[in-house]
Amino acid sequence: TRAVELERGLVVAGYGRHYLVETPEGRRVVCRPRGKKSECVVGDRVQWMRTVASGTDEGVIERIEPRRNLLFRQDEWRTKSFAANLDLLLVMVAVEPQFSESQLSRSLIAAESAGIPVCILLNKVDLPQAAAARERLAPYRAMGYDVQEVSLQAAPDEARAALAPRLDGRATLVLGPSGTGKSTLINLMVPAAQAQVGEISQALNSGRHTTTSTQWYWVDAARTTGLIDSPGFQEFGLRQIDPQQLPAYMPDLRAHVGECRFYNCTHRQEPGCGVRAAVERGEVSASRYRIYGEIHEELSRPAY
Ligand code: GDP
Ligand code: ZN
Repeated sequence: TRAVELERGLVVAGYGRHYLVETPEGRRVVCRPRGKKSECVVGDRVQWMRTVASGTDEGVIERIEPRRNLLFRQDEWRTKSFAANLDLLLVMVAVEPQFSESQLSRSLIAAESAGIPVCILLNKVDLPQAAAARERLAPYRAMGYDVQEVSLQAAPDEARAALAPRLDGRATLVLGPSGTGKSTLINLMVPAAQAQVGEISQALNSGRHTTTSTQWYWVDAARTTGLIDSPGFQEFGLRQIDPQQLPAYMPDLRAHVGECRFYNCTHRQEPGCGVRAAVERGEVSASRYRIYGEIHEELSRPAY
């Protein structure tokens, strides 16, 4: 036997135990992982080896390079990793349908715990109820989040101009409940998005179109700006978070934990709690405190 050189690549999609790996030159190769355990996710940098037995361009993933970050999704009872090495999480909400603050906060907590910067994108500000949505987002602006208003459909040029500096040269995961304008955004930013999806599902699934899971799109021909879409996404997996750490991932609560009488305060019923005092003074919104309590409760429940 002779030593085989490993090639490098980027995982741009996965289907079952098949992954589509893109080479630095932009060629795409269907790969499967070596062994049973190694699961990779979209955004992974991998080292792979060509298998020439079948005469086609196929490969085996030998190694996943160390990840900068990793996100988890909750599928029914299972927590599963689904994207890695992200530079930005674009959390989409809209004026209509009204967004859930709980869902928004969960996304922000997931991003904070993974160390990924966030942009909250409020779409459809052309609608008359925009003021109410803006007001609901005010606390998030106040706690330091980048909140950008757009009308992806009604004012696409302005939207593109607002998005470009945030996305350029980065790998961005786009998330939002359905009806928010996620498809509108992908179609606005990604040239021939449908063709890119078609290519991916063809490569991974021999022609059949599937409601694929997470996949990577290139925004520019030079392949420096990536957008990642995760169509089946329901909810972030937060179970890997230690409940004690939860306030560290909520900037508004985090600002007050140093004011608690007890160093191990859970901010739920202890006397002298700085967080609850801040809620009473109106410095932490009642809804954020309620969301904290709900998630803290969930994370404190023993896993079964
Ligand atoms: P998705 O389910 O998140 O992929 O959302 P879509 O991109 O399919 O958009 C959902 C609906 O919102 C569609 O009917 C769009 O026409 C509408 N929509 C998207 N952008 C805007 C906008 O800027 N203003 C308004 N008023 N409607 C929009
Ligand atoms: Zn406290």
